[in-house]
Amino acid sequence: MATIPEPHEGMTPFESVNFFFHDVADRIGLDDQTRDVLSGTYREIRVQVPIRKDDGGLETVYGYRVQHNGARGPYKGGVRYHPTADLEEVRALASLMTWKTALIDIPFGGAKGGIQVDVSALSSAELERMTRRYMSQVSYIVGEHRDIMAPDVNTNAQTMAWMMDAYGQRAGHTPAIVTGKPVELGGSLGREAATGRGVIMVLDEAVRDAGKQPDDITVAIQGFGNVGSWAARLAASGGYRVVAVSDVRGGIIQSGGLDVAGLIGHVREAGSVVGFSGSDPIGNDELLELEVDVLIPAALGEVITKQNAGEVKAGMVVEAANHPVTPVADQILLDNGVTVLPDILANAGGVTVSYFEWTQNIQQFSWDLDRVNAELGRHMRTAYSQVKRYAAANDVDLRRAAFSLAVERVATAAHLRGYV
Ligand code: NAD
Repeated sequence: MATIPEPHEGMTPFESVNFFFHDVADRIGLDDQTRDVLSGTYREIRVQVPIRKDDGGLETVYGYRVQHNGARGPYKGGVRYHPTADLEEVRALASLMTWKTALIDIPFGGAKGGIQVDVSALSSAELERMTRRYMSQVSYIVGEHRDIMAPDVNTNAQTMAWMMDAYGQRAGHTPAIVTGKPVELGGSLGREAATGRGVIMVLDEAVRDAGKQPDDITVAIQGFGNVGSWAARLAASGGYRVVAVSDVRGGIIQSGGLDVAGLIGHVREAGSVVGFSGSDPIGNDELLELEVDVLIPAALGEVITKQNAGEVKAGMVVEAANHPVTPVADQILLDNGVTVLPDILANAGGVTVSYFEWTQNIQQFSWDLDRVNAELGRHMRTAYSQVKRYAAANDVDLRRAAFSLAVERVATAAHLRGYV
């Protein structure tokens, strides 16, 4: 049996995700050969993406697509545009997709893409040219039954529309090559809200299990993009008191509870949560240490670390972002009795409705919103109760329970195929 290294703060994101993988591989007695395969990636591509600038100049950036494991179905995962989106980060995010799709039990493998770029410096036309170039560079390894893309940080439905169009120029009309695209182009109703909706669905389950009501609960959310803003909106409409939120420009707090609908209007005009009337400013780091019942990191990875984990006062952390807690911080939270709803469970609503979107595209048949949300609820609640039951039966925390279930499913599929 392989021995796993002690976690430390110098681990790369991929090493961190693999720390959790190896930890559960030990517990479930996974053989070393299967462990070797599942802790590596199947295929990685790095592409050069020259961007023709509006002023006629040329800027060259690099993009990645990593396919981690395809035992359970076509590779599936979003594309992130961010200066930190290097190969190690994309590998980590791709592996999380393998475990997430297995846990939520949809027939996909795991992949992720990224371009290492600061989008704040690009015009819309430059973004479009970069997106089309990236898609045409990676088009040789993706496909509607091979690898399907979706939005992530700094990408959205418009990005997916450009990708679909660029791919279609080579392969013909192929809406199922991307999910999270505009509804007018075959996107699914409910996809935009799906990750945030799934976050609140599992929070509801955990709150009910704790014998509490939403109106007993205060919530702080880091990140107010697609996931954070929908989580805030659905938390508020579900009766929770959302007291603090933040984005890349800073945070705000209102202890009586923020008017989230009003805040969304403010963000539309001001481009940030900062300056919302009736709220007080707070720092992004301060938000993570607030006296609230529930903390929802919904921005970037590795925001709860060895440095600040001991300062987290929330009794529950719901990981809407991918990999927001380092392994060392995870142990500190565990020792302090903080319940962590892990990313591969909590934010799986997005890929679940992406699966519904892909299914609708393949069948050329649209579902109504009630059906999408009902099926999403069924998947989220089933996964939540399986994780809870596994944790109780095996005396492990929810992250180890979630990883154990996922790793067992992927290993079974890989063995059945004869791949390992
Ligand atoms: P987004 O680009 O729509 O929003 C990101 C938000 O984070 C923005 O409000 C941005 O201002 C904020 N932010 C960026 N840097 C920050 C910082 N240093 N401090 C505080 N806030 C910061 O991205 P998204 O799609 O909402 O994704 C957010 C997280 O959720 C990511 O970790 C992503 O991988 C994860 N996720 C997204 C989806 C999806 O369907 N979009 C699905 C699963 C998981």
